[in-house]
Amino acid sequence: SDTDTETDAHTPSLRTPIVAVLGHVDHGKTSLLDKVRGSAVIEGEAGAITQHIGATAVPLEVISEIAGDLVEPDDFDLPGLLFIDTPGHHSFTTLRSRGGALADIAILVVDVNDGFQPQTREALEILQRSETPFIVAANKVDTVPGWNANEDTPIQSTYDQQSERVQGAVDTALYEIIGQLSEAGFSADLYWRVQNFQRNVGVVPVSAMTGEGVPDLLAVMMGLSQRYMKAEMEIDVAGPGVGTVLEVKEEKGFGTTIDTVLYDGTIRADDRLVVGGTNDPIVTDVRALLQPRPLAEIRTESRFERVDEVSAASGIKIAAPDLGDAMAGAPVRVVRDRPVEDVIAEVRAELADIAVDTADEGVVVKADTLGSLEAMADALADAEVPIVRAEVGDVAPRDVSVASTADDANERVILGFNVDVLDDAERRAEIDDVRLFTDDVIYQLIEGYERFVEERERAQQDTVLESITRPARFRILPDHVFRQNDPAVVGVEVGSGTIRTNAVVAAFEGNETDRVGQIKGIQEQGEDVEEARAGERVSVAIDGPTVGRDIEEDDELWIELPEKHAKILEQELADEIPADELEALNMYLERRRKRDPFWGK
Ligand code: GDP
Repeated sequence: SDTDTETDAHTPSLRTPIVAVLGHVDHGKTSLLDKVRGSAVIEGEAGAITQHIGATAVPLEVISEIAGDLVEPDDFDLPGLLFIDTPGHHSFTTLRSRGGALADIAILVVDVNDGFQPQTREALEILQRSETPFIVAANKVDTVPGWNANEDTPIQSTYDQQSERVQGAVDTALYEIIGQLSEAGFSADLYWRVQNFQRNVGVVPVSAMTGEGVPDLLAVMMGLSQRYMKAEMEIDVAGPGVGTVLEVKEEKGFGTTIDTVLYDGTIRADDRLVVGGTNDPIVTDVRALLQPRPLAEIRTESRFERVDEVSAASGIKIAAPDLGDAMAGAPVRVVRDRPVEDVIAEVRAELADIAVDTADEGVVVKADTLGSLEAMADALADAEVPIVRAEVGDVAPRDVSVASTADDANERVILGFNVDVLDDAERRAEIDDVRLFTDDVIYQLIEGYERFVEERERAQQDTVLESITRPARFRILPDHVFRQNDPAVVGVEVGSGTIRTNAVVAAFEGNETDRVGQIKGIQEQGEDVEEARAGERVSVAIDGPTVGRDIEEDDELWIELPEKHAKILEQELADEIPADELEALNMYLERRRKRDPFWGK
């Protein structure tokens, strides 16, 4: 009956799903959020939208106004959507709760012209890792050449009104994005073709500029939440509040405050809290709960107004003493009627859950929030890079001290994600020969580090290769004896490897190796050269032998390999040397091992 629907529609224990907006820079995250907020103003429902700290609450009634036929309020009992205002995956990674992402659902914004970009891929990885359901907003459809805008309309009606040529161009752009999603391992399709949003990613064409498709976007978000997330939205709204620190901020007149997203229960102005800090959990009493003051009243001193209590889901600024060590991404828990030790233990357990596994040796990692630190640690684990120390905060001199103790030069390294490097730290790093890598895209940061390791290892190999004797095989050509001895000068053809001046020449007599002499010079068509490669014919001057006694026309000669060098070449550098040189090495080893099977092993 009607009464039942009425009661159900406002069950107080169903909270608002929390929505995060992710995507590559400039793809339109901020514009999309602005549009959602702005659309509601145009609809005359501005009063119904509430600005929270760090978030905007859009109630079901407003969503229904914007979405028109696409959202029938009676079909829903979730109260609306809470959009996190700070777009981007940095804030998203901060948004963690017990065991995962704090955002219940996400919008991945992709510019239809630009397609997938580094941060798009990174956002996808984070969404996948945190198992957050998401839809893709294929933004900026209005920029397709020839597009005729129909402001704030659902996408299909405006699409139908475009010319065939424009429709074709839109289709191409959308299928490109669907293809890229599929390459990234997501089965995706235009949202109206998706039956099961748990299995398939819905793509919604939108324009944050003209508002086209925004009704669809809100309708899909709402539908998805209602259908798949209702159970998770059931909370004990009167219970002690649980939330996550979004940002730690100095606020004039209030000292250090924590902008917090509350996802469970209630916080009251007289509550005691436990907050995750860089050291021990912080136990503190709320001094003030602050919300943004409505625009109309902004002439007063403070931008904030005090409230007595807030319930999940909401964004709230909490002023309290001793918050200096609070960390972005850390848990916030109301104590209320429980032993404070129990709550401290809960916060500890949550922090331990986020804590990164460290090894005795490895790189130093710094990140801006606990969530991003965790994402960094996951990515480094995938890349098999061990971590010796992982902390939230800017790169400080003591981080350099830790990094400088590494034995392995590959680990005299600090990886900073979305953090600053303090001046002192930069200077120390230079003195201590510690390498600093910073970036605001995780995989770029890790790729940068991997490139450094590769280059170092290659440089090391090059040094080894330079100091090592390299194998080569060559033959004295018939009728090419130019001088008998002192030195012997003969024409040769290099079979494999490269011969160089000063190399020592050997020959095999049966199973014995004989040292023949040393190459004094190489000439190619009358010109002095330093070396000759496989296939080349040159004349060589060899100090030591006499032609006719020690060497003959048609003899096969070798560059003599010290046993140690042969061993390094075979065991460590076989992949690094050219194929013909490897052939020379193997033939040389084969001959040597006929006499001594363990030679060079
Ligand atoms: P963010 O970095 O992802 O937050 O991107 P912004 O929202 O700042 O948008 C970047 C630029 O793209 C701005 O100049 C916006 O005006 C523009 N923009 C965003 N969405 C649209 C859109 O749908 N259509 C058009 N034509 N421009 C857009």
